[in-house]
Amino acid sequence: MLAELESIVGFSEIDHLVRLANFLKDKKIVHINSTKIGGGVAELLTNIIPLKHELGLDATWEIVVGQAEFYKCTKMFHNMLQGMKNQIVPDTLLKIYEQTNEENAQRLFNLLNEADFVFIHDPQPAALIKFFPNRKGKWVWRCHIDISRPSRQVWKFLKQFIAQYDASIFSLVDFARNLPHPQYIIAPSINPLSDKNKELNKEEVEKAYTEFNLDPTRPILLQVSRFDRFKDPIGVISAYKLVKKSIPSIQLVLAGGSADDDPEGSIVLEETLTAANSDNDIHVLSLPSDANVTINALQRAADIVIQKSTKEGFGLTVTESLWKGKPVIGGNTGGIRLQVINNYNGFLVNTPEGAALRIKQLLSDQDLFKRLKRKGKEFVKDNFLITRHVREYLTLLVILQQPSANVIW
Ligand code: UDP
Repeated sequence: MLAELESIVGFSEIDHLVRLANFLKDKKIVHINSTKIGGGVAELLTNIIPLKHELGLDATWEIVVGQAEFYKCTKMFHNMLQGMKNQIVPDTLLKIYEQTNEENAQRLFNLLNEADFVFIHDPQPAALIKFFPNRKGKWVWRCHIDISRPSRQVWKFLKQFIAQYDASIFSLVDFARNLPHPQYIIAPSINPLSDKNKELNKEEVEKAYTEFNLDPTRPILLQVSRFDRFKDPIGVISAYKLVKKSIPSIQLVLAGGSADDDPEGSIVLEETLTAANSDNDIHVLSLPSDANVTINALQRAADIVIQKSTKEGFGLTVTESLWKGKPVIGGNTGGIRLQVINNYNGFLVNTPEGAALRIKQLLSDQDLFKRLKRKGKEFVKDNFLITRHVREYLTLLVILQQPSANVIW
């Protein structure tokens, strides 16, 4: 992978990674999240762990597991940390959350207690730290969601654990919190060589048209997302319906799947199907979790990609689409604002009406369409590739390892 990455990012970027890795060769690095399948965190770790291995690092990825009530609790955390109002997590669920973390701590005890660096991703495993009073290594809480306006109840509860970490990482400055340790800003990334993002030949892209009954001669609008309310699939359908009035040839694809740790997916999928109301030009696709080449092909087959989230930690789907040279209409929120630069590689929107206006503008102005298409790939190459991401992670580990060293290269 390193040699192929070098052909994209150049020698010095890879050389830098190799030099950083040399400082960490004898260290055990462990990543913990709550699912190996579905959603952005699993996507990131699926790509980052093999790259760390190729750099000669001892990196392991484990997940916490629990019963249905645990995921119910952590989905409430997710929703309420991202600002969902008028809810309280009952004490019974908070107890199950802590108990589940304790059970997982016992199962993973030796690995975590002896690790030199532990990355805990998101709130689901955040309480693990409580059960390692004599831990050897440095523990980092890596937050992937938008916690700029969290529920006070949930943040107060989680902060008792998160405050014990040695550092935390957020995807953008707006998400940083008042915490008694250093906070770092590191944006996520995509792997340009993965099945999700690699170049596809014409036949592979065309397969998406035939497989999903799409007409390649008519415009295709695509959103790829888990069926989650913050992704606003209903808002996408509203935008599509507004566009359809003046551009009747438009087709909409809403491609999603489920994540093992997301109990609400089937409900939101049902709501989406109801809103689609059997319109033959709306294709709601429920894809298997390993449909990476299919998603790649759909992103390449689309004319415009939309990611109309109302909250978004980062939005890898935006990065993936920009990399494929697609103009992106993105919800004006969180990590999408890092990626979609208005009138440069896409447009930021606040409402279905705004999204419809921009889609119509793009479909009726070829010069604008071509100008925006040209910018995406370079922008991702400069900012959001896996090499930059791993470089920043490794730099952080070197800093944590030598907190008093005043030399950073
Ligand atoms: N994804 C997928 N299949 C789906 C829906 C999403 O493989 O049916 C992928 C998508 O391509 C992206 C990741 O899951 O790589 C979603 O990451 P993002 O940051 O956009 O959102 P999250 O799900 O983490 O909120």
